[in-house]
Amino acid sequence: MSNNKYFDIIILGVGPAGIQAGIHASRKKVSVAALGKPEASSLYRGHIENYCCVSGVKTGEELLNEGLAQLENFGVEVIREDCIATAMSNNGFQVTIESGAVLDTRAIIIATGVSRKGLGLKGEKELVGRGVSYCVDCDANFYRDADVVVTGDGSAAAHGTHTLSKIAGKVTLITDKLDVSDTLRQELSADNVTILEGKKIKEINGNDALESVTLDDGTVINCNGLFIEKGAKGAMELAAFLGVQLDPEKFTYIVVDREQATNVPGIYAAGDICGPPFQMAKAVGEGCVAGMSAGTYVKKLLRQEKKQDDS
Ligand SMILES: Cc1cc2nc3c(=O)[nH]c(=O)nc-3n(C[C@H](O)[C@H](O)[C@H](O)COP(=O)(O)OP(=O)(O)OC[C@H]3O[C@@H](n4cnc5c(N)ncnc54)[C@H](O)[C@@H]3O)c2cc1C
Repeated sequence: MSNNKYFDIIILGVGPAGIQAGIHASRKKVSVAALGKPEASSLYRGHIENYCCVSGVKTGEELLNEGLAQLENFGVEVIREDCIATAMSNNGFQVTIESGAVLDTRAIIIATGVSRKGLGLKGEKELVGRGVSYCVDCDANFYRDADVVVTGDGSAAAHGTHTLSKIAGKVTLITDKLDVSDTLRQELSADNVTILEGKKIKEINGNDALESVTLDDGTVINCNGLFIEKGAKGAMELAAFLGVQLDPEKFTYIVVDREQATNVPGIYAAGDICGPPFQMAKAVGEGCVAGMSAGTYVKKLLRQEKKQDDS
């Protein structure tokens, strides 16, 4: 028996998926810890108006603070540190956190989200939520009749441009080389959008809000919105250590079944890390299922162990 602190279930992530997983897992009367930093959740800088039963626009920060308080009320221990390593152990898994402490657990729920690939330009991070967005599905409605620019080379950029063409005013797609199916290309040409191929954005301009972007050929495009749709990066290192199966195409997302179980017994996943659409409603739904599944799994395991001890 190790001297490490033990929890029946450890959740990696305190975004909407991790929070909901914790709420539902704790209902199964098992001990649960949730690790991570709320300010690192994708939701933190978002403004939500498309989540069931929450009317008006709420900030992500507000929602996360309420969610964390709720999580703690349900008896979940929230540890505001990232997990830096995971390993298999005799009875389950070991999770090492930033302080160097090692935690033992029977089950892990991976809810670490994804980070959007950015342009890495000056002003980009500062203007997120004030003109710069990484998610058309999330933010398109805030740009009704506004002039917007989309940038990216794949289907996410093309779909985003198509969606915005029905909502925004003038829509311009800036792409180095548009790599999409003929059908998608035809759909775009039928939309009232301008496609500038072979171009890159060099500068993002604006102080309190986005005003324009400058291209590598010096052209300045005035716009209120810039949608960067270049795909997502997952926190795959942790998953790879545990032998969790990833999607065979992009190796970015964790493959799960309908119970949010991965191919490794005792490891579940939920939220953005399981793939698009990147939406709070999906993250919460998957978190609920993952929490319940992990709770059932651990209780069964504990019952079996007790039976063995008794016999
Ligand atoms: C600007 C913006 C606007 C958005 N607007 C909307 C919207 O209007 N409507 C909507 O439905 N969705 C919106 N979204 C998407 C929504 O925020 C995400 O779909 C949702 O947050 C995904 O939840 P998640 O729990 O899977 O991941 P996240 O919310 O990203 O949370 C991931 C968590 O994992 C933690 N983590 C990461 N690595 C580790 C580690 N090694 N150890 C421990 N913890 C770790 C992070 O600290 C974080 O707490 C928006 C996103 C952005 C960026």
